Amino acid sequence: MIDSNLRSLNEEEMAHVVKEMKAPRFRAKQLFEWVHGKNVTEFAEMSNLGKNFLADLSKNYDLGHNKIIKRQVSADGTEKYLLELSDGEAVECVLMRYRGDFSKKRNTICVSSQVGCAMGCTFCATGQSGFVRNLSAGEIVGQIYEVNHLLATEGAESIGNVVFMGMGEPFLNWDNVYKAIKLLNDKNGQNIGIRRISLSTCGIAEGIRKLADSGLDITLAVSLHAATDSERSKIMPINERIPLGELMAACSYYQKKAKKRITFEYALMAGKNDSAGNIMELKNLLKELDCHVNIIPVNPVADTKSIFRPEKKAVSDFAKALKKAGINCSVREEKGLDIDGACGQLRGKIAKKGLF
Ligand code: SAH
Ligand code: SF4
Repeated sequence: MIDSNLRSLNEEEMAHVVKEMKAPRFRAKQLFEWVHGKNVTEFAEMSNLGKNFLADLSKNYDLGHNKIIKRQVSADGTEKYLLELSDGEAVECVLMRYRGDFSKKRNTICVSSQVGCAMGCTFCATGQSGFVRNLSAGEIVGQIYEVNHLLATEGAESIGNVVFMGMGEPFLNWDNVYKAIKLLNDKNGQNIGIRRISLSTCGIAEGIRKLADSGLDITLAVSLHAATDSERSKIMPINERIPLGELMAACSYYQKKAKKRITFEYALMAGKNDSAGNIMELKNLLKELDCHVNIIPVNPVADTKSIFRPEKKAVSDFAKALKKAGINCSVREEKGLDIDGACGQLRGKIAKKGLF
């Protein structure tokens, strides 16, 4: 069945809608440009479609009713949005703004792919809140459209990069994520370059293989966080089902097929994964791959009392030692700590206060 949210539809599906309405085919292209290119939030904004056509369209279709219900602005320019969905659920997205003379840099948005997450990683606020449901393609692109709409009203630079690193596991909602990526990349839509889109997975091997087979030229990031099965299983339950051997085999497959460097995310947790021994384990695990390790000082989540961020010096020492061991790496700049920068934190906080 076709989604009633027009933001979920590609041009072919819009052509089908238009045909059912007995309107001319060119209306589909116009509609696509309004919905996906100019990210309208009201039917009335689609000024060249004709009142009758719009009245007819609105009988069965809508624009998803996503609303920004909370905006938090960090001192460092990072902004976090909570978006309400049509069924009263909510998801978060985070905008990382580049201010001043950063002519080559663009605004980046971190979007959610699911409401909640079933993976239960111990350090993650989203994981602790459980899984609610998948987002539709329209609800995924809706995060970008709503924020872009707001940025336009403020005369600010629009979004140039998209990362699937918000709430949820994108490979467990792959059909909708794939469709959303295609829509964002469409030249009559947002026209966001395919290489400006990144996806992060907790290690769904089948998803990594599917991405390799799809030929989609996005950037792949894998949340590693530990380099042995026993350590990784303690913090990421998915590792019990998909152990490192299987995950690394999928990464090698991807690398051979896509011929792209893989980013491994490594949230550094004091006393858990930051020792000299951990560096050797990482080296052993990654030595065959063309990869980059992104070290992220863990963002403390209120519910995880046993997870602590290492001291600044410990983080830079770890990075230095990893480089010395021959592994490409960098420390990710921390953003939005004062606004609960880690995805899932804002939704969790508001849910606890009973605000939705
Ligand atoms: N589910 C996917 C994508 C969303 S999570 C995944 O796990 O990769 C995006 C990234 O944020 C992942 O690398 C995840 O491990 C990391 N993350 C989650 N909670 C964090 C925290 N408290 N501190 C630092 N990174 C965190
Ligand atoms: Fe889910 Fe990713 Fe959080 Fe793990 S880190 S619980 S996979 S969102």
